[in-house]
Amino acid sequence: MLEPEPYLVTDLTQLPGRAEAVVLPSSADEVAQVVAWCYERDVPITPRGGATGLAGGAVADGGIVLGLERLNRVRSFDPLLWRLHAEAGVTTATVQRTARESGLFFPPDPGAAELSQLGGNVATNAAGPHAFKYGATGAWVTGLEAVLPPGDLVTVGGAIRKDVAGYDLKSLLIGSEGTLGIVTAVWLRLIPAPEVTLPVVAFHRDTPAGCDAILRVLGSGITAAAVEYLDLEALASGAAAYEAGVPAGAGFMVIAEADGSAEEAERIRAELAEALSEGALAVHSPRDRVGLEALWRWRGGLAFAVIARRGGVVSEDVVVPLDRLAEAIEGTVELGRRHDLVALSFGHAGDGNLHSTFLIEPDDAEELGRALAACEDLFELAVSLGGSVSGEHGLGLLKRGQLARQWQPRALELHAAVKAAFDPKNLLNPGKKLAVGPSFAGARRSSSSAGRA
Ligand SMILES: Cc1cc2nc3c(=O)[nH]c(=O)nc-3n(C[C@H](O)[C@H](O)[C@H](O)COP(=O)(O)OP(=O)(O)OC[C@H]3O[C@@H](n4cnc5c(N)ncnc54)[C@H](O)[C@@H]3O)c2cc1C
Repeated sequence: MLEPEPYLVTDLTQLPGRAEAVVLPSSADEVAQVVAWCYERDVPITPRGGATGLAGGAVADGGIVLGLERLNRVRSFDPLLWRLHAEAGVTTATVQRTARESGLFFPPDPGAAELSQLGGNVATNAAGPHAFKYGATGAWVTGLEAVLPPGDLVTVGGAIRKDVAGYDLKSLLIGSEGTLGIVTAVWLRLIPAPEVTLPVVAFHRDTPAGCDAILRVLGSGITAAAVEYLDLEALASGAAAYEAGVPAGAGFMVIAEADGSAEEAERIRAELAEALSEGALAVHSPRDRVGLEALWRWRGGLAFAVIARRGGVVSEDVVVPLDRLAEAIEGTVELGRRHDLVALSFGHAGDGNLHSTFLIEPDDAEELGRALAACEDLFELAVSLGGSVSGEHGLGLLKRGQLARQWQPRALELHAAVKAAFDPKNLLNPGKKLAVGPSFAGARRSSSSAGRA
């Protein structure tokens, strides 16, 4: 008898994956039936949303891939109560648009919004530029419906804005990367949309000057909605496409945004301009809608401009305390020097979240090896600065085994105990998040699709 060929499945990381079957249930009950069937037969399950994750979390190694895309209904939307209840396969952009059409705002803004799904956002606790003011996805989740092994459909929280009864199981599921349960629906709280958003762009000579300006923003108590940065090489990657022009000698760019009512946004914009202008080479502030949209579009395309420089990158999403940001940015460049690679970073400055990136030729295995070694040093650097190996994308497959770098043994034991309590047979996304064992770095390819992040 012929054995069926495994499906070759991957995600945007292009890590090689394989699965015996791809299952696309249409309802939460069907998800529960699939999980029960798999649990009875010891079949591993890899949940998959829009497959835009940047840590290889949705890449399977055998068993089934469980795609959530058919769970795509908004179950209820109550604009007058600022809340929405949607299934896991609804895209981020659909949630954002639905809210906007009624004057409301869903602040989490990870890139790839047309593809990424609510369930994937919850599973990675995805964030974006506006997490600085508004927090990551989890800050907007009031309840989850999820299928937990061995196949139980469970609800934690709901359309309630507070809940301190019991342990916070909802928060355990948020960011668990599909290793504890499969999210089938999410209750979200929304807020009225800000009337106006006004960006301020500042160019500084170098990283210390730029980071000082960012610290001044915080120290002055200015409630910016977003504070982003680009270092020298990141700026060089996108400079040609930056319509307003990059001033000569600029080695660091800050993009901050004010929002609120027209009056409030204008006040914050002026405060931002003042805090960022000390020692700056140039400060400008597009006010018209076209200029504003062009700025964020340019920022959204930056990762692709970075990739275009040599065809490939190895990029990580470390995070450090804000007062150590300059050291982490300069440390990334120094690691590039040490490993003979062009290194750069950009990211969510307000949250201390870097996208530290090493440029490589996609087919140069030796160069890839050096970039992976640089990433190991980068993780060490982040942890030594009091930071974390991942601020946004999670551990997935790519950062397998990295937890031990930053958690103490007792905390690691608790991680293992939590996993065993939810998933005693270790069938939910095995090999991800907690897994110790061989690093997955060997199977890694350079990314040609790393995101804005
Ligand atoms: C261009 C681009 C820009 C990006 N920008 C950002 C950014 O600014 N900030 C940020 O945080 N991320 C960013 N990302 C990463 C990614 O988009 C987010 O992590 C996104 O939320 C993943 O959603 P997804 O539906 O694509 O999940 P997938 O990639 O399909 O899966 C991600 C993880 O979640 C699990 N999972 C998916 N659905 C479920 C479910 N229903 N139940 C349980 N587990 C599930 C998977 O098993 C996997 O471990 C970016 C990616 C790209 C390509």
